[in-house]
Amino acid sequence: MILLKSLINKSSLSSPSFKSINKSLTFKNINNYYTTTTTTTSLNLKSNILFNNSDNKMSIDNKEKIRAGLEDLMKRRFFITQSFSIYGGQAGLYDYGPPGCAVKANLINLWRQHFVLNEDMSEVDCVSVTPEQVLKASGHVAKFADFMVKDEVTKAFFRADHILEAHIQTLLKDTSKMSKEQIEELNFVLAKAGDYNQEQLKESLIKYNVKAPETGNALTEPYPFNLMFQTQIGPSGLSTGYLRPETAQGIFTNFGKLYEYNGKKLPFAAAQIGNAFRNEIAPRAGLLRVREFTMAEIEHFVNPNNKTHPKFNEIKDVEANLLSSDSQDKTSEIQVCTFGEAVEKKLIDNETLAYFMARTQQFLHTVGIKPAGLRFRQHQKNEMAHYAQDCWDAEILSSYGWVECVGHADRSCYDLKVHATESKSNLSAYEEFKEPQFVDIAKVVVNPGAISKKHRAAVSPIKKYLTELKDDLAKALEIQETITKDGSYNLVLDGNTYDITADMVTISKAQEKKNGHTFFPHVIEPSFGLGRIIYSILEQNYYTRENDEQRGVLSLPAIIAPVKASILPLTSSDRIAPFVQTISKALKEANISTKVDDTGNAIGRKYARTDEIGVPFGVTIDFQTVEDNTVTLRERDTTKQVRIPISELASTLRKLCDLTVSWSDILKTFPIYEGQSE
Ligand code: AMP
Repeated sequence: MILLKSLINKSSLSSPSFKSINKSLTFKNINNYYTTTTTTTSLNLKSNILFNNSDNKMSIDNKEKIRAGLEDLMKRRFFITQSFSIYGGQAGLYDYGPPGCAVKANLINLWRQHFVLNEDMSEVDCVSVTPEQVLKASGHVAKFADFMVKDEVTKAFFRADHILEAHIQTLLKDTSKMSKEQIEELNFVLAKAGDYNQEQLKESLIKYNVKAPETGNALTEPYPFNLMFQTQIGPSGLSTGYLRPETAQGIFTNFGKLYEYNGKKLPFAAAQIGNAFRNEIAPRAGLLRVREFTMAEIEHFVNPNNKTHPKFNEIKDVEANLLSSDSQDKTSEIQVCTFGEAVEKKLIDNETLAYFMARTQQFLHTVGIKPAGLRFRQHQKNEMAHYAQDCWDAEILSSYGWVECVGHADRSCYDLKVHATESKSNLSAYEEFKEPQFVDIAKVVVNPGAISKKHRAAVSPIKKYLTELKDDLAKALEIQETITKDGSYNLVLDGNTYDITADMVTISKAQEKKNGHTFFPHVIEPSFGLGRIIYSILEQNYYTRENDEQRGVLSLPAIIAPVKASILPLTSSDRIAPFVQTISKALKEANISTKVDDTGNAIGRKYARTDEIGVPFGVTIDFQTVEDNTVTLRERDTTKQVRIPISELASTLRKLCDLTVSWSDILKTFPIYEGQSE
């Protein structure tokens, strides 16, 4: 929704420069590794991200051109392709070709290093096929749905919010006969449609007289369509399963073992990288909305009474672009403030949530997302699940507008609690108090005789359930209140309902001296969609050479680039060929991926081909190499070249890829070379 808003806001396209905001967004580095964020900034290259000081809004320049150029490049150079295209393809399913696959592998490696390794997380790898019971407990079977409408005549289907948005956009094209209030109302609906519930969508579709596109036929009322792919597990046909719509459930269901593995101590985090499947009604925008995609998810388990983070100090001065829930109701103004200030002002609910947002920001900057092209948007009350405490999406600017790429949610104890109830397993944690404390408990007096009169066969399980309410004061009081108010409480056990009346149980609040307590940990969940991030990186780093619009360049940071160095023999001479082998071997030994181009193309064309897939460094072997064992080393974005001894090539490239030296250091260290022109 915000996505459409920013596309409309064309005024922000005329802006002084991206550098101005970039300056105010620099963050204090916590780790040398992250000091060089984007090569584009340091090399002062043209950026597609623009920032307008007057209205504090960011947008992307030349969006149609960028998108068309990049899509053509992605197809031609086999970054991605529609799956099964020889059979006509299938919407929402994409395969990664060699450069796309390498970028994805690099992204995953860095994610593991940045999160799993640096934050001491426990990684798991769970299955995709999930029994129905698990997804019933999590709420996905009942609620993981989008709203759909159908053309009454042709039966063509559409996503209800999309069709409403498109209609409002059409109305807003001619506002000459509208009052200010009417325009405001339409803009409000446009901003909110993505979060509307079934009733709100129904009302709006009627109010604005929305018809089926192209045919103009009447539409059905919106109805929910569950996004999970259903399947049968085994041949009996009796066991329904689903392909997982997210990786998180595998972590929750293994909580007990993970808690044990982590020495029964909180906080700890578990992580998982794997594919998720969503049967989207209207897949669109390439990798941005697909039916199968790779997620990288973290579940950080904390004590609900202590959501501070031991490393918060390291990120408290990092600045971020924040779009709060409040601001979305008013001006949609982005606030630039530090994570420390945001937590202090209670804008972000707690330190741990803010810590992960900051770590996500560092990760995204490192992989090539521009500071001005990243913001965090807080969920509004009506978008947030009832149990969630606070949610912020990392949104990245692309030609499609601001797109959610990483969700950050404080999900309270919802997930563990529902799985504990459904599976009847212990998914709680225990905390020993420093000193014994008096804690509130439920005093539960059960009368088995009265239960037996009405529910003879189920006395034991009912008695057990009621007795165990002792440690769940909130639930116990809720039951007592219902009995007092309505005369009975409907207790559901193993799918059977039993009415519990006042003669069967008496519940009251009491205190007990305890050495510790049992509780459900809360969960803070950063959830990454890797496809969306990859597409955003490619778009934000795509540009064309000045004076040559045909020459596309992917200015990818070396750490993400699919190939780190190209090896380019100037001719196919037998005198040069042996050097290709030696250099290629030396670079591989230093763990630097290479691609040899020994075609007869001119050197300028060879450089252009490597620029297109984002290779940051080019090694050219010529006749001088035969004489003095030196080669030309060229950097993609500046196109500057130096002459470097072969003996120093691998170690220099290693340092450049690890960001321990910069290209400007290299220009000062080795003689500049101007021989092989582009
Ligand atoms: P969610 O669980 O819906 O909050 O999604 C978590 C992340 O998964 C999002 O931030 C996106 O990056 C990604 N994502 C969700 N749905 C899709 C989709 N249909 N196609 C591609 N990525 C998606």
